[in-house]
Amino acid sequence: MNAVIDAAMDAERIRALIEAVASAVIDHADELTALDQAIGDGDHGLNMKRGFEAVRADAAGVAAKPLPDALKAIGTQLVMKIGGASGPLYGTLFLALAKEIGPNGENAASAFAAAVEAVKARGKSQAGQKTLLDVLVPVQLALADGGPGILDHLAAIADAAADATIAMQAIRGRAAFLGERSIGHMDPGARSSALMVAAVCRVLGG
Ligand code: ADP
Ligand code: MG
Repeated sequence: MNAVIDAAMDAERIRALIEAVASAVIDHADELTALDQAIGDGDHGLNMKRGFEAVRADAAGVAAKPLPDALKAIGTQLVMKIGGASGPLYGTLFLALAKEIGPNGENAASAFAAAVEAVKARGKSQAGQKTLLDVLVPVQLALADGGPGILDHLAAIADAAADATIAMQAIRGRAAFLGERSIGHMDPGARSSALMVAAVCRVLGG
């Protein structure tokens, strides 16, 4: 997103981003729960819904802040409200993004790269282990490559990456307890990450 964010990140835009991401997650809560019922404990949809309902409830106040402060406020809410394994991981993503991104989205690609590294450190995990990193890492690599109109392609990249977790065996998270029986199901966190990426791209790309 380094030369990709081309309009001011004003309150209206930040508000639109919050609405888009929150409703994408909340509207798909049942699907995320079903995915987590298959290979986890069935709470991912509810966890994410609780977190993003809290973010959405505070959207006007958060959107009035400069982008880095808004991301920090969102990350803090997510850590407090989502819970489970995914709360600290998504919280870390937003908090780390807040540290490096500029008020108008400057350094977006390098800030996202740093944020994904922070998630890896928090989860002691990496791509290939059937987690949300299997979406975040390919999206980060595509962003780093950049190129014109990259935002138009990121949602498809994220979707394909989430689909690719179906064939993987889980090495991290609760699903790892299932061993080979985790194969054949999409990772819930990969799906929630893909939903969030698509929502961001819809607002920034269009
Ligand atoms: P919990 O597993 O505590 O019930 P959730 O159901 O909310 O938490 O989230 C599960 C998702 O969290 C998984 O689908 C996976 O994508 C992600 N996850 C779990 N552990 C890790 C980890 N160590 N690193 C990266 N992602 C992880
Ligand atoms: Mg769970």
